[in-house]
Amino acid sequence: MEKINADLAIVAAGPAGLCASVAAAEAGVSVVVFEKSSIAGGTANMGMGPFGVESRIQKRTMGTLRKEEAFKRFMDYVHWQSDAQLIHDYIWNSGPTIDWLEDMGVRFAGAMKNFPASEATWHVVMPDDGSRPGARSASAMNRVVFERAQELGVKFYFNTPVRKLLGEKGKKVTGLIAKSDEDGTEYEVSAKAVIIATGGFGTNPEMVKEYCDYTLEYDMFDFMVPGIVGDGIKMAWELGAGKGRMEMERLGGSMLPGGKLGKYLESRLFGNGGAIAVNKLGERCCDESILQNGSVAGNIVDFQKDRTMYRVMSTNVVKHYKRNGVDFPTEVFHFDPAATFEEDYPQTAAEHPTMAWVADSPEELAEKIGLPVDTFVATIERYNEQCAQNFDDDFCKSREYLIPLTGKKWYAIRYAPSAYGSLGGIKINHKLQVITDNYKVIEGLYGAGTDVNELYNGTYYFYFPGNTMGFAVTSGRMAGNYAADFILSQG
Ligand SMILES: Cc1cc2nc3c(=O)[nH]c(=O)nc-3n(C[C@H](O)[C@H](O)[C@H](O)COP(=O)(O)OP(=O)(O)OC[C@H]3O[C@@H](n4cnc5c(N)ncnc54)[C@H](O)[C@@H]3O)c2cc1C
Repeated sequence: MEKINADLAIVAAGPAGLCASVAAAEAGVSVVVFEKSSIAGGTANMGMGPFGVESRIQKRTMGTLRKEEAFKRFMDYVHWQSDAQLIHDYIWNSGPTIDWLEDMGVRFAGAMKNFPASEATWHVVMPDDGSRPGARSASAMNRVVFERAQELGVKFYFNTPVRKLLGEKGKKVTGLIAKSDEDGTEYEVSAKAVIIATGGFGTNPEMVKEYCDYTLEYDMFDFMVPGIVGDGIKMAWELGAGKGRMEMERLGGSMLPGGKLGKYLESRLFGNGGAIAVNKLGERCCDESILQNGSVAGNIVDFQKDRTMYRVMSTNVVKHYKRNGVDFPTEVFHFDPAATFEEDYPQTAAEHPTMAWVADSPEELAEKIGLPVDTFVATIERYNEQCAQNFDDDFCKSREYLIPLTGKKWYAIRYAPSAYGSLGGIKINHKLQVITDNYKVIEGLYGAGTDVNELYNGTYYFYFPGNTMGFAVTSGRMAGNYAADFILSQG
């Protein structure tokens, strides 16, 4: 057993742990970080960028959203069923955190929207080679923060998961035990404070079932990021932490088991407003343009029979998107999903027979999927009548998306609830201190990022995109500062 003394020990080097380490080291305390995987950055290495309001870059690009309005809209959205002071502090610190990252050397491609009705709060990171941003851009941010932490003398132990927190149950933390997966070395760390940031429990089937009532890979498709199995949450509970609200960060889409996204299963073409959405009863179930908002899409599909929904298009709709382009081309998806759809989709359907279908008529499509044929055909007829009248009397979808379903070929894809991961687990107060179920502070113990993110009840606030990574970097920085203040106050 190797013994280590440090002011602050951090459990994990995802964006929350990394930002906490830099903030605390900048404040002058000694920091050690233990990380289960072989690299820094966590889940955010797969993502694009964090949320911020009133960052310099947002102001430079004439963003008009202000903190006050963001706070009011956020609280309204969550029906005030969240810690208002924490949401306030998060929003107020989010812009300065983006500026802090920029000063550290992170380059942002811009403050962007995720879909037309959203705000430009998504600070998409520019890839290291300066190319157009896209999936995994945020790894460039993690690299910069990791390098800054090393410059400041933060010591990292990779492939070394934390196994246990030390201290007095429900009262205080005094350190932790970690063990290297490489050479088996055990570390006993004495620390004045500990920050937990292990990214939630999204890849743990038992926890997802017990706390969120989903069966992974059956009625919930998660990105299944390795190692995100609730370690920090369970360790905190063992030391007396209360249980926070726990949810999956729901999305609606067509993900494959194992967190894989196929080129067309990524739904970029089916994701357009012209593809209708029907449930297992064969009935249309929403204004399809609202499905541009991924978390609302998650709720809609979650509400349907067997948590299942189908997006349906015909030749006519595909031709429309070939001619006019997709509803909202973005900076971060770089291919035209309509270009070779008609040639490629039969192959996708052959490879994924319970997920994707092609047919020569609506009747045949309904039969192949297993929908009630008469109801489905009546749904198409009614929809086409509404297109002819230029008015969606069922769900008030905007006229621009009312494209009649006609033509030789009929296409469908299955949607199911999916998720970026989980949300919440460890009970905290607005100073990110871990508390018991009785709201007693466990001295020296802090939480940051997804392990403590219970801001929005499972319905990610996509109108302000970048919110989970935003909460990770901002709460990480805040927790690092709070922990450093506590440590320095101890003398
Ligand atoms: C494909 C994808 C794209 C995304 N894109 C975006 C986006 O553009 N914007 C956005 O806001 N959000 C995005 N997200 C979500 C975002 O990545 C997460 O919200 C964010 O990474 C959470 O940060 P975190 O530090 O809390 O946890 P994580 O990034 O999940 O990091 C947790 C770390 O804990 C480590 N760990 C686990 N157990 C232990 C242990 N026992 N001991 C030590 N270490 C441990 C893990 O190895 C990991 O490195 C995306 C998610 C996915 C899956």
